Amino acid sequence: MPVVVLTRSARPVLDLTTDVKTIGQATPVSVHATDPRGIRSASATLEQNGTSYAVWQVAQPSKAKESWWNFTAGVRTTPQLKDGKAKLIVEATSNDLLHKSARVERDVTVVTQPPTVSVDSEQHYIYIGMADLATFSVSGAYTAAGVRVGDQSFRAWPMPGGKPGLFSLYAFAWNMPQTTIPVVFAANGAGNDVTSPLTVVFPKKEQPHYTVHQLQISDQFMQKVVGELDPNGTGDMVARFVKINSEMRKANNKTLAELRFKTADHFLFSQPFQRQSHSAAEATFADLRHYMYQGKEIDQQVHLGYDLAVTQHVGVEASNDGRVVWAAPLGIYGNCIVVDHGYGLQTIYGHMSHFDVHEGDMVKRGQVMGQSGMTGMAGGDHIHFAMQLDGVQIDPKEWWDPHWIQDHVARRVEMK
Ligand SMILES: [Zn+2]
Repeated sequence: MPVVVLTRSARPVLDLTTDVKTIGQATPVSVHATDPRGIRSASATLEQNGTSYAVWQVAQPSKAKESWWNFTAGVRTTPQLKDGKAKLIVEATSNDLLHKSARVERDVTVVTQPPTVSVDSEQHYIYIGMADLATFSVSGAYTAAGVRVGDQSFRAWPMPGGKPGLFSLYAFAWNMPQTTIPVVFAANGAGNDVTSPLTVVFPKKEQPHYTVHQLQISDQFMQKVVGELDPNGTGDMVARFVKINSEMRKANNKTLAELRFKTADHFLFSQPFQRQSHSAAEATFADLRHYMYQGKEIDQQVHLGYDLAVTQHVGVEASNDGRVVWAAPLGIYGNCIVVDHGYGLQTIYGHMSHFDVHEGDMVKRGQVMGQSGMTGMAGGDHIHFAMQLDGVQIDPKEWWDPHWIQDHVARRVEMK
């Protein structure tokens, strides 16, 4: 291989490290430049309708091989900009005698006004760990909108049935601080974020009280779990078990949350969700579990679903119409199925012994999708049934309730 020495003909290498598509009031732009001789000069301009506007330049030459520049571009400093298309151009010249230069261009859209949001005038009753629906409208250009609850956001969807406006199904997560106020947000990707709070009622007396359990871990259960989920590991059994229970649980929940993007942009169901027939709940949503081994607490975790037991190898029923978006082993959940019901709403079925469906299959409410079992972190045959909304696990019990669905969903958006 010949060695090519490029230093004589070196020119700067420029890279726009922020993905700028829209220029608003003061949109942040980041540029990374490399040049073995340093940079003599660099500047950014916005070109619109044949006119070029200077937006930024470096103060003085630099001998540094690498430079990072951050500046803002927008209507605040260039009030001549109009709504519409423009070009962002960054140029840099090498700090040597040849003055070689480089240039990057990006097509952008100028948006002079932030979007505005107008929120429904309803009172939203918020229960911890559960879901609700808000309707709103956004005017002006926007790239993202929805409901934000603390650090979690829930996408906006066009109202079904061709009605004007948008809606979001959103969750108030089981561990969200109770002082958090859900807001409707709209962003235009140009640093123009607007929010408007929902009118919420937080019925203090009716909030769920999550239960606390001590789970006695036997040697037999520990060996079953560790042997199945960490078969090639070595070392202390308790440490391996705790690692599975904490780190693997976290990774598995992240995998589940990312399935939010495999969702339909319409309701795939029209009836209430259905709980597994003849099942007894051995554990419920957001139970806090203290894991006890030989009289000592070795771990604590929150159980984000229902453990539904019937008999061994019972047919696992789809809770509602939907599309299978996962049918594969998933760590502590064992053989796991996830069914999408549209708009980011999904049901999860864990610890199965056998699948009768594949990813991509459409399923009907009550359809048997396989058999229950005890794969993953299960000490006995049961179905771990859970639900998530835009990746946030929620209590399924409301979705089993036709009155709740009528009051919170069907009254506000057209379901069929
Ligand atoms: Zn469970």
